[in-house]
Amino acid sequence: MTTTTTLQPNAPADPYCGNCGYTLTGLTDSSKCPECGRPIVEVLTRGPRYLEAGKRYRSATTLFGLPVIDIAIGPKHGELRGRARGIIAIGDIATGWLAIGGFARGIVAIGGFALGVFALGGGSVGLLSAMGGMAMSLGLAVGGLAIGGIASGGLAIGWIANGGLAIGFFARGGEAHGVHIINRSGATSTKAVQMFGFLTWLVGSARGNVVRAFQAPFYALASVLAPGALIALLAALATRNKSQTDQASSATSANAGRPAPVRSGPGSQGTPAQGPTALRP
Ligand SMILES: [Zn+2]
Repeated sequence: MTTTTTLQPNAPADPYCGNCGYTLTGLTDSSKCPECGRPIVEVLTRGPRYLEAGKRYRSATTLFGLPVIDIAIGPKHGELRGRARGIIAIGDIATGWLAIGGFARGIVAIGGFALGVFALGGGSVGLLSAMGGMAMSLGLAVGGLAIGGIASGGLAIGWIANGGLAIGFFARGGEAHGVHIINRSGATSTKAVQMFGFLTWLVGSARGNVVRAFQAPFYALASVLAPGALIALLAALATRNKSQTDQASSATSANAGRPAPVRSGPGSQGTPAQGPTALRP
């Protein structure tokens, strides 16, 4: 590490809380951070602050062995980039069911560069759908440059290509190259008309010279947002179940001193409490 101490000459010497950032200078007889309450032995940090400016959060709740949510953004604890891994992963490098980050990999991937089944990003590669500045997909690709089974965009290359410049087996566009084409110069192959007619719901219609292709971005976006919302819902439900189980078990342990009345404690069979300790909101 090269240290150039021009900007903050005394920052490296200043002790501060690695958890909340509170300056701990002069707190010689305190055992806890006065701001966040964490033990100073755990959080005392020295060194340039920008190397600790990131965020780390990992939920205690797990699902299929993964934290329900893992957030790792920016430099922290000696890592220059946050690597998040979870059902929902948010980070500089994010891997998860729903991954959001500079570089995101997942079932649903959203990021500067996104790689997934459904991908949305500056550069996106998606198995079933991709949308972005540059989008590639075996299924639907929508973007400035779109390459895919069905490609729609400024420059579209695919089996079915629709765009300003379209190159494909079936191609429709201002300029179209391919086997069955529809273009501005009046070329209209019957098979292309049939195919694009069949796919109007997905790639829009051409009236005269104008291709109306609002559908493709809509479906590409929906194909990312719908499963993303489902995963977020799953994560929310898992978190809720966990907190209910926690409440139930703390209620059980509160009763631990007394003799157990019946073996119908909440959580014993995974069923909600029907007994006296039914949960109230
Ligand atoms: Zn603190």
